[in-house]
Amino acid sequence: MKAIRRFTVRTVLPEPIAALDTLATNLRWSWHEPTRELFQSLDPELWEESRHDPAGFLGLVTREQFQQLALDPDVVERVRAAAEDLRRYLEEPRWYQGLGEDRPRCIAYFSPEYGITEVLPQYSGGLGILAGDHLKSASDLGVPLIGVGLLYQAGYFKQALSRDAWQQETYPVIDPDALPLTLLKEEDGTPCTVTLSLPNGRKLHAQIWRADVGRVPLLLLDSNIPSNDDGARSITDRLYGGGGDHRLQQELLLGMGGVKALRIFQRLTGGRAPEVFHTNEGHAGFLGIERIQELMSGPQPLTWEEALVAGRASTVFTTHTPVAAGIDRFDAAQIKYFFDAGLAPDVPTAKVLELGRESYDGGDPSVFNMAVMGLRLAQRANGVAKLHGVVSREMFSGLWPGFDSSEVPITSVTNGVHVPTWVDPQITAMAEGLAPNAGVGRRWDVVFNVPDEQIWQTRRELRSRLIDDVRRRVRSAWRKRGAGEAELTWTDSILSPDILTIGFARRVPTYKRLTLMLRDPDRLKRLLLDPEHPVQIVIAGKSHPADDAGKKMIQDLVHFTDDPEVRHRIAFLPNYDIAMARTLFPGCDVWLNNPLRPLEACGTSGMKAAINGSLNLSVLDGWWDEMYDGSNGWAIPTASGTSTPHERDDIEAAALYELLETQIAPRFYGASGKGTGAESAGAAGPSSAGEAEGTGSIDAVPTHWVSMIKHTLSHLGPAVSADRMVGDYVRELYTPAAVAGRTARADDYRLARELAAWTKHVRSNWSQVHVEHIDSGGLSEMPQIGDKLQVNAYLNLGVLNPADVLVELAYGKVDDSDQLTTVGLADLEPEENLGNGRYKFSGAVTIENSGAFGYTVRVIPRHTGLASKAELGLVVNA
Ligand SMILES: *Cc1c(COP(=O)(O)O)cnc(C)c1O
Repeated sequence: MKAIRRFTVRTVLPEPIAALDTLATNLRWSWHEPTRELFQSLDPELWEESRHDPAGFLGLVTREQFQQLALDPDVVERVRAAAEDLRRYLEEPRWYQGLGEDRPRCIAYFSPEYGITEVLPQYSGGLGILAGDHLKSASDLGVPLIGVGLLYQAGYFKQALSRDAWQQETYPVIDPDALPLTLLKEEDGTPCTVTLSLPNGRKLHAQIWRADVGRVPLLLLDSNIPSNDDGARSITDRLYGGGGDHRLQQELLLGMGGVKALRIFQRLTGGRAPEVFHTNEGHAGFLGIERIQELMSGPQPLTWEEALVAGRASTVFTTHTPVAAGIDRFDAAQIKYFFDAGLAPDVPTAKVLELGRESYDGGDPSVFNMAVMGLRLAQRANGVAKLHGVVSREMFSGLWPGFDSSEVPITSVTNGVHVPTWVDPQITAMAEGLAPNAGVGRRWDVVFNVPDEQIWQTRRELRSRLIDDVRRRVRSAWRKRGAGEAELTWTDSILSPDILTIGFARRVPTYKRLTLMLRDPDRLKRLLLDPEHPVQIVIAGKSHPADDAGKKMIQDLVHFTDDPEVRHRIAFLPNYDIAMARTLFPGCDVWLNNPLRPLEACGTSGMKAAINGSLNLSVLDGWWDEMYDGSNGWAIPTASGTSTPHERDDIEAAALYELLETQIAPRFYGASGKGTGAESAGAAGPSSAGEAEGTGSIDAVPTHWVSMIKHTLSHLGPAVSADRMVGDYVRELYTPAAVAGRTARADDYRLARELAAWTKHVRSNWSQVHVEHIDSGGLSEMPQIGDKLQVNAYLNLGVLNPADVLVELAYGKVDDSDQLTTVGLADLEPEENLGNGRYKFSGAVTIENSGAFGYTVRVIPRHTGLASKAELGLVVNA
């Protein structure tokens, strides 16, 4: 029989162990091993059945069983201690509380997806996992952050394969009542809702779920409520679901509804209003419009210009991709249609349209670009690795015409990974034994005290555990592909715990080149089957449902892995997710990454591999470009720009094979090499249960390899940690944004009003500014090092004052076409008012280098409310 209604009944726990509910609801368990161990210890079988989901687990335990547990003093004491530990974690002052007064009192962080645990499948890949890691580290550091996102009924899809290896997608529907979420309610018990106006008099309502990520509340908007019509109800149906209007409405709800939800949350909890708004990728950009709407509709409304200044001051925008297809672009007409309907009634639609206009060379005037809007709505912006900063400054330089791309106001903060989530407990334990409470993850250098044998042994155990998982997953994948049990005995013996194991897992957009390793299939086969130095490969990844090219790549790869000759050495695992990742990263010896440089903005999976002692083998892209040091892994060389894409793949694949054959495999197997069955099992410890083939073990520890592991853990550990990343955001972006926001707000927005008026004045009169004449002196006939170059610039500023401008002497080495190749800057000071808007500015520099030298003068607007010289995009170059 089919039920006509369903609901989830929450367990009522006996009082002595009632705290289990709090321990299950706060997602800190997802990175706190002792809490997970506590749940597991209560009933290991049900724990497995719940797939390590504490809330699900509590739903499986019977009333009688709870009564029994509540009578066990040991259980009661352990629950009490765990609850006390959580309480302390939530309340104690942490790193952030030791910072100075300028620190923001509250930060709102907006992201379209969050990857916190596989229990809450609200992520598709790197962006979501990064957002989850950001919240977790903010919690650990005591940063007062509030996350804002959407609750999708079906999250991202589950991946399976057809018999012919074509990706199949299913969208299992979640039940929010069964998840570690609580509904925000008014005091009278009715659910809180936010409402957006849609065209044709329709409304979009959403309720607000709260998840607790340690100390950080995460608000998730959900449109699946009866007060909506069917169309509105399905807005939050899937992560990045549908296209066009559907996607746009998701983003309107996230940004504009998200700000409304924050206001409700603040009212209910008496908490502080956010002083900084962080837009994690363009999708959330409409939050800036909602804030402008607030400022334009208050008791003393600001004008558009004033509200824009005030909003920008306290907004940070992070761009995450240099791939054109990764940037959200809507039809400008679509945006007009929605805003004309009164989404933000006090904001002129034309102004909204201007924000997203691609008003630069090569831009499309009919398009509304979310990244462009993000940059215009935020006074501070960043890319996610040093190289990505460079690429982003070039990519968006059209928005700041007249400035070199190096001056484009986009900085970078390199991503990081949340160590307690991603480091395997065995790696932590390895070092904890030597120095209690100073394990890897806190003091990485203790790894140098761990004996080589122990490290090698631990690596082998992690590899064995991965292999067990691979065998289970491959068997299950084949059953789904229609194979019978009898055909599948071979899956019991695939992979070996003593063979060099390479991992590759990530989403499958074209630029990540999943199939680069197949470029020369025979050579790959020889690598896999090498009698001395064999290699085995574990691969996973989901293709975007609409991306047939990606699905074809998966199919090609799986067809290769299906070959009986190699299928014991290479496996594709369907349905890559956080749970798989946590076994995969620690179990691999080498983590492979071969994107088309420079399209990988950062990449974080290699970081997760590194903190588990796997070595990176990667193209010098994203984070690896800045962190590869010659001895913490290997760099796949990038083919020069002159080759065709086809040649480029050939060259880079050949380099990859070469590195594996000549450097990586020999080093892994040490000097001794490895036999295939002739050698007996050696001293390297216990064989894993499922080990079937007689490949034996490695008889000596490869000391060079282990020294690379130690070097990787000690040097990369602190550098790739999300604590480092969140600390960087706090110091370099959040704190300056909070200070700028407070300054703009002070005295009833005095500075915001002033800056807006001044900007308008400067913009409309900028065309009058000219450099009329420059003369110089102070140099001898044959200029030499140490000479002082004296420069006078005669300017016409029109109606502007000398205090409105910064006049700079730009000087340095020049190339054959007179381009300055190294630029030094010195201020020229006003010397003389020559009347009629004309001024003489003067200054001097000392010449420090020999060779071709050149200089020029430029004029840019100057105001204390501006965060960078290029901010207004105005400059007059001589
Ligand atoms: C880390 C991670 C990603 C992101 O990997 P990239 O290297 O940044 O592409 C995607 N999915 C899962 C499950 C992850 O754990």
